[in-house]
Amino acid sequence: MKLITVTDVAELIHQHGFDNFMTDLMHYLKADFSRWHEFDKSPRHATHVDGGVIELMPVADKHTYTFKYVNGHPKNPLDNKQTVVATGQLSRVSDGYPLMFSEMTVLTALRTAATSAIATDYLARNNSTVLALIGTGAQSEFQVLAHLLVRDIRQVRYFDTDARAMNKFAQNMRSYAPEVEFIACSDAQSAVSAADIIIVCTACKGHVEVVKDTWLQAGVHINGLGGDCPGKTELEKAILFRSKTVVEYLPQSLIEGEIQLLTPKEAEQLVHAELWQIITSAKSGRTSDSEITVFDSVGFALEDFSVLRLVYDLTNHYDIGSKLDFIPQLADAKDLVAALNKIDLGAREWTKKHA
Ligand code: NAD
Repeated sequence: MKLITVTDVAELIHQHGFDNFMTDLMHYLKADFSRWHEFDKSPRHATHVDGGVIELMPVADKHTYTFKYVNGHPKNPLDNKQTVVATGQLSRVSDGYPLMFSEMTVLTALRTAATSAIATDYLARNNSTVLALIGTGAQSEFQVLAHLLVRDIRQVRYFDTDARAMNKFAQNMRSYAPEVEFIACSDAQSAVSAADIIIVCTACKGHVEVVKDTWLQAGVHINGLGGDCPGKTELEKAILFRSKTVVEYLPQSLIEGEIQLLTPKEAEQLVHAELWQIITSAKSGRTSDSEITVFDSVGFALEDFSVLRLVYDLTNHYDIGSKLDFIPQLADAKDLVAALNKIDLGAREWTKKHA
């Protein structure tokens, strides 16, 4: 079993290149979403705790099983802790043996950005050049960098309620994307009202209307990322009534997405498709320049599966990661106690001496 640390992920991105990694990840995601029916899927298991949520996200096909452990604690940054941290595992289905344990805080940001960019690619107008970003926290730079790969973004209009987060974002993006014009906005309305694509990735445990219906231009595409938990939404409900809404996995999105604001009957009428149906052309993407499209993203286990699969393949290729002594190596598979013999004898000596 191998271990992939944050340092290993940084080394992998350094060796493979950020844009190459993102492009490969989008290919892996599209390939996995295209074989939707091959996966054993379920809504994630959420444990709601004071101030946040802790979730387990499993998914499997015939060969590979993955799961992610992830939290969402919007108030963590007040103690300079991250809102979202994650770890994950990839296992072989044929014998159930774990093959890789990995950091997934960075991988979550990468896979969320790649998925969001795929949605944009299928749903945003081809001539989109102005991107609005509301919420310039941990996910924000990844979102913009992924979008640069699918549209000719010339201007990014951004807003956050925290001026320090805006400064951090501006400073990072100046060096990562010097060719793009970055405009700091004094409120969300001035960021979104001139945009072709809107990314909303704020963190607030509540039904917040970060983006209002009347602010939207015809033909805009919205990626709503922060409405991802019961009682946590970012868009004014009216937006859903005049948009083509796409979700990842309906059973989970009904509980966690922006569409939790709808009655079951409204959701049935208003949700246009799951993302895999757009990717495989089973359902239409954008059909006119004037329609408003919404990708109501909550984060689905299949996205973690794709990124873990890619990281497993690439770290094998580049020989990155370390061996982890997590599975007992036994001469006789039934002789598990042999794994403890040495330690156990020592411990008994110690116990005798100190009794
Ligand atoms: P973060 O805490 O680092 O950043 C969130 C930012 O939003 C903060 O800078 C905060 O000041 C800002 N903010 C809060 N309320 C705002 C408002 N009303 N207007 C403008 N800005 C506001 O969190 P993050 O890791 O960047 O995650 C952002 C959101 O995305 C979270 O809600 C998280 O749960 C969600 N998320 C979703 C997915 C997915 O797959 N859909 C994946 C990862 C994270």
